[in-house]
Amino acid sequence: MNYCSDCGGPIVLEVPGGDSFQRHVCSACGIIHYKNPLVVVGCVPEWQGKLLLCKRAIEPRMGYWTAPAGFLELDETLEEGAARETAEEACARVEIGSMLAAVSVRHTNQVHIMYRARLLDGKFAAGAESLEVRLFSPEEIPWQDIAFRSVTFSLQTLLADPQGGVHTTSF
Ligand SMILES: [Zn+2]
Repeated sequence: MNYCSDCGGPIVLEVPGGDSFQRHVCSACGIIHYKNPLVVVGCVPEWQGKLLLCKRAIEPRMGYWTAPAGFLELDETLEEGAARETAEEACARVEIGSMLAAVSVRHTNQVHIMYRARLLDGKFAAGAESLEVRLFSPEEIPWQDIAFRSVTFSLQTLLADPQGGVHTTSF
């Protein structure tokens, strides 16, 4: 970030008074442009003992399998975001269940929140960001071709603890 998105003034890196981190501060208007991790939210939909995964049609990790997930939007709850992403990527309607995993992903500055979920009617299809969407029995899960470590963690956690609480990790 070189120029202020509010006034166009030059940005400097400095530690504002009372702060302990270096920030992008506008030298013209003084506004502090905070950069903080983004929230990615998703779910692992279950249907008749199988889990729904999407083969990614976009980078990063095109061609690899993921659970429906994406960036949380403004004015949206985590549960609404998880259901929306499932509608967009898998053309499926879900009932969102309990929170499954909260993963700190340091290298991308993201927090991934994943939910247990259930398909409402068993219907699904590939959305614009998916090449293919299908149900996998636990034995069929393509562990070598999962797009993201947080998804691998969520799938492992769900199989080990289908009803239970929130599991956390960091990468
Ligand atoms: Zn400014």
